[in-house]
Amino acid sequence: MPDSLVKDMLSLTASPALFAHLRVNAQRLRADFDQLAEIGATVAGGVSRLALSNEDLEARAWFANRVEDEGFVVRDDDAGNLSGVLHCPNPNAPTLLLGSHLDSVPNGGRYDGAVGVLAGLEVMRVLRDAAQPLPVHVEVIDFTDEEGCWQSLFGSRGLTGQLSAAHVSDANGDNSAFRAALTRAGIRPDDIGRARRDPHSLAGYLELHIEQGTQLERAGCTIGVVTHIVGRSTLKITFNGQAGHSGTTEPEKRRDALQGAALFILRAHTLIRDEYADGIFNCGNITVKPGQFNIIPEQAILTVECRHTAAPVLIEMEAALQYLAQKCADEYALSVGVVRTAHMPAAPMSPRCIQAIEQAAARLNLASAPVVSYAGHDAQMLASFCAAGMIFVPSLGGVSHNPREYTRWEDVTAGANVLLHAALELAFAR
Ligand SMILES: [Zn+2]
Repeated sequence: MPDSLVKDMLSLTASPALFAHLRVNAQRLRADFDQLAEIGATVAGGVSRLALSNEDLEARAWFANRVEDEGFVVRDDDAGNLSGVLHCPNPNAPTLLLGSHLDSVPNGGRYDGAVGVLAGLEVMRVLRDAAQPLPVHVEVIDFTDEEGCWQSLFGSRGLTGQLSAAHVSDANGDNSAFRAALTRAGIRPDDIGRARRDPHSLAGYLELHIEQGTQLERAGCTIGVVTHIVGRSTLKITFNGQAGHSGTTEPEKRRDALQGAALFILRAHTLIRDEYADGIFNCGNITVKPGQFNIIPEQAILTVECRHTAAPVLIEMEAALQYLAQKCADEYALSVGVVRTAHMPAAPMSPRCIQAIEQAAARLNLASAPVVSYAGHDAQMLASFCAAGMIFVPSLGGVSHNPREYTRWEDVTAGANVLLHAALELAFAR
């Protein structure tokens, strides 16, 4: 495009002051929220919309209809991400992404993910109604399988070019069922690599989400400005001993794999709590073989996870756990193997986004505080790709992934207004 034409396009851009008075429509947002919550509604008052299930597909169809009814352009990609786009006058302008996910965990809450997508749609309506030309395209996006029913952060991995055929053959569960579910949703497993966008085509990514913790409640703040999303590693730790008769084997000859594993679990919790401030350790699964009450356990396999916001500390924690596992194995004459089965590096949020969110909250007279996300989010994948930021709103009692998940509507509205003004901040500050 010739420079003169670009200049003409830019002259079509309104001044940011024209947007200062804008606010989201809380009732309109609530109406969408209530409608969406009926899809996959559970008797306990939550939702079950597992990625690529009938309920998820119904939610996606509902969302596409909402986007179309509002006059936005529906867009989808080869990873099944579904978007609505509000175009600006300059076709060469970059796109500012706002979004989250419409899928849920089994018997989950109504707010997780849904709030971010619906707030993004509401922000686009406000910007459209303002009828002032923007310097960026604005796109609201629903990312496929954020929750990892099949493959966690599937859609955001796809958009950032971090999805390959291997991810389709490494599903949580049955790979052929995953391929079938993708195909049924109109996603061709062999084409998922084509979902990658050009990072230069993006002006940034902002995600509004419930906190799912209690940092904001404790700080008495409405708005959380996420500084980091925690990194996490999953380790499979296998203690090997020797099976034997539980009654007749002499004490000094027992090589009980489960005793070594039990010692490790207790010591690991103490180690991480005492030595790694802000570090998290969890052992969520034990498989014991042969698994009989009258046989000394020959093998104990633990699936453990550790989390930290600083990448080098996370690596250090993994090494410390490996060393501890060896020490515990030695005490019971066992051998031990440690394999890392998953790793997601910590993701710092973009300073530009952090500043935009802080400024938006200050302008709206909302109390904000810097917070860390101990849960994974799509913003984590976007962080290494473009400027990414997250806004948290309080979760009552920190309850989440549960039908009792609750966020006061005035807090959702406050978060949506911060999303609106942080988006404008990013759009005009470029
Ligand atoms: Zn979520």
